[in-house]
Amino acid sequence: MKNILDGIEDVLLMGPGPSCVPPSVYEALSRKTLGHMDTYFIQIMDEIKIQLLHIMKTENYLTLPISGTGSAGMEASFVNLIEKDDSVLILINGVFGERMRDVASRLGAKVDSVEFEWGTPVDPEKVREKVSKGAYKMVAMIHAETSTGVRNPAEEVADILRNGESIYLLDAVTSLGGIEVATDAWGVDVLYSGTQKCLSCPPGLAPASFSKKALAVILNRKTKVPNWYLDMSLLSKYWEGRSRVYHHTAPINMNYALYQALYLIMEEGLENVFRRHLENHNKLVEGLEGLGLKMLVKPGHRLPMLNSVLVPEGVREDEVRAKLRTRYKIEIGGGLGPLAGKIWRIGLMGHTARAENVQRVLTALRETLRK
Ligand code: PLP
Repeated sequence: MKNILDGIEDVLLMGPGPSCVPPSVYEALSRKTLGHMDTYFIQIMDEIKIQLLHIMKTENYLTLPISGTGSAGMEASFVNLIEKDDSVLILINGVFGERMRDVASRLGAKVDSVEFEWGTPVDPEKVREKVSKGAYKMVAMIHAETSTGVRNPAEEVADILRNGESIYLLDAVTSLGGIEVATDAWGVDVLYSGTQKCLSCPPGLAPASFSKKALAVILNRKTKVPNWYLDMSLLSKYWEGRSRVYHHTAPINMNYALYQALYLIMEEGLENVFRRHLENHNKLVEGLEGLGLKMLVKPGHRLPMLNSVLVPEGVREDEVRAKLRTRYKIEIGGGLGPLAGKIWRIGLMGHTARAENVQRVLTALRETLRK
């Protein structure tokens, strides 16, 4: 009988989606499944929490991988902190900021936003002005806007919110493990990420961290968290303490994979990993400019792990992507929303951020654009 899985090709993942997964992370996934209450699995859970504290640069007690992809982290952040009629300010300059607005609106929050042109960063001065005029329970921003390749000024926004009442929510889905994310030093109250970007694990978990201030808000809610699966006060009873209380069956093997992925990052050293991302980003940009291509985002605001390249006049961007995928077995991404058809998005996330991959995509682009 034919098995469709036999047709899966070895594709170099250089898109905005999942990154390449190192062999030892695949090996970790295929280890024997333990029970979700098994004492050895609980030891692994404890180790993962310790690793996350290190990678997220935090001492937050409530730090754990939520079952689900990055969007589950986003949903969990809003659903636990926000109640009907709470005022939320969302800083928007791409698809994922818009997704935050949608998530918050569904909870009946009073959602306000400041919007910035896609491809440009959030302007801290505009945020300062807005925050000075309104009292927001939460201010939320995407650190690395994957839809545009922009790095938002997480630290500057932190400075504006410091000593204020607002909860600072930062999406670190694409930034964690690729650039500095200093949760505690920046005063971030809620941080979430995803496993499939710079952590180089398959998609499936959303590491998240909640500060004492965020925890106090959760514990003092007027109403129950309306989503049972993502209720942090229930989840924490499974992830914390001497006797664990079953909540839902943890995706055991995904947790093995996350442990191994974080182990590799810590073995290489977080700062070395950041440097590798930056160096390969610089090589890629130099090579792209050598091909006569231009970047969407101005220097200084670019993400090393997500490179947005303007499609030259007269080129069908979807045809180029299709050729890269079929002839060269390389995946890159196209643009979204107002940038659809106008940019390519080339990912250098985690294990993908290597000189040989930069060379491979540059060669493939050179040959494809020449024809
Ligand atoms: N936030 C950002 C910045 C993202 O890039 C993504 C996905 O690419 C998400 C949230 C949603 O994550 P997921 O697709 O894993 O649910």
